[in-house]
Amino acid sequence: MKVFEEKKGNVFRILSEAISEGIVIVNEKQEIVTSNEAADRMFGYEAGELLGQNLNVLIPRKYHNNHHKQVDEFMDRSDPRQMGHGRDLYGRRKDETTFPVEAGLNPFEIYGSRYVMALVTDITVRKTQELKIVELNSELEQKIEARTHALSQTVNELKEEVAKRKEAEYKITESLRKERELNELKTKFLSLVSHEFKTPLSGILTSATLAGKYTETEQQDKREKHLRTIQNKVKYLNNILNDFLSIERLELGKATYKFDTFPLSKVVNEVIYNANMLLKEGQNIIYPSNIDDINVFFDEKILELSLTNLINNAIKYSSEGTIINMIITPEKDSLNIKIIDQGRGIPEKEQKFIFNRYFRAENALLDPGTGIGLNIVKSHLESLGGTIIFESEENKGSTFTITFPTKNTTE
Ligand code: ADP
Repeated sequence: MKVFEEKKGNVFRILSEAISEGIVIVNEKQEIVTSNEAADRMFGYEAGELLGQNLNVLIPRKYHNNHHKQVDEFMDRSDPRQMGHGRDLYGRRKDETTFPVEAGLNPFEIYGSRYVMALVTDITVRKTQELKIVELNSELEQKIEARTHALSQTVNELKEEVAKRKEAEYKITESLRKERELNELKTKFLSLVSHEFKTPLSGILTSATLAGKYTETEQQDKREKHLRTIQNKVKYLNNILNDFLSIERLELGKATYKFDTFPLSKVVNEVIYNANMLLKEGQNIIYPSNIDDINVFFDEKILELSLTNLINNAIKYSSEGTIINMIITPEKDSLNIKIIDQGRGIPEKEQKFIFNRYFRAENALLDPGTGIGLNIVKSHLESLGGTIIFESEENKGSTFTITFPTKNTTE
């Protein structure tokens, strides 16, 4: 060290003091052999105070072990290089505080001894600025994230709003459609009433007038015949009114159903009894008599309405002297009822429209009718998990089959 001190010239001193970086030179034993003013100031030492001290005094204690090894390795190689390799480097001041540094190491040999010159820069300001930038960036990221979140929330709210509006719009259009259909229905009802009610009402009037003319006791037969006609026509009008009420309820979504367990024979007998009054000359209904032990769990009114419609059609669209068959087949969880007639049938090209409301086949137009019976039977049955299908051949006959679910079919 002495030799070095003696040999170094004034030029080096002037140069090293003029440089703003700290210069620290250590020998092979890592003893500091010289330091410039900038290095002394940076590390908080008086001029010359560092001389002879181990390099460790400038390094935070927690890095001592590692550092020693690294310097030894470094001494064995001789290329100048930057310290740290991407790691943050710290210096230790005399007062034990630490501060970030950047250091370049330059090994050299002089008069047979090896030295390392470290060029040290205090990067506290730069690090603080870097930290500030990182903080600002993360603040910015947080702000962006918060904004994005708020934005996506708004978008979601808007989407919900749009969905609600669409739903409201749909409801309005739906209720407008229903209102329009109901209005059409009412108009149709008025025109149908004038057509469909006129004939039976005048029939009722005629029969009532005629019945009144048979005053003799032995003319009871004739009186009864007219009273039966009156009953039939009233029943017919009543059926039409029921159908219309059904449509209105279905349209308004107000159709209510009542499930009950009841004997199948009760409904069948009622339907057959009423249908018998409508039979044409020589017509006959054959229906099963062994159904007394069949109980069904279903809506009684809907079953009655369905069978009445099908039987009345079979009578209406068949000629005198024909047979109408009712076949009942209990399945495992359902009941199957067929009404078979030998009537005029439905023209093939019109079969696909037969369940449309108000649709009447061409070969039916001379008979009274509204074209709504099958439509409401289908709607009701399907609402209750049932089905209605048919097969028909013109001038041969038709078979209508209804199937509906029922829990217990036999007792
Ligand atoms: P309506 O009998 O009052 O006209 P429906 O809805 O009961 O109305 O029947 C619709 C149409 O289906 C009838 O007009 C008729 O053309 C046809 N139809 C229904 N049942 C039969 C049947 N058993 N035989 C022939 N045609 C039928």
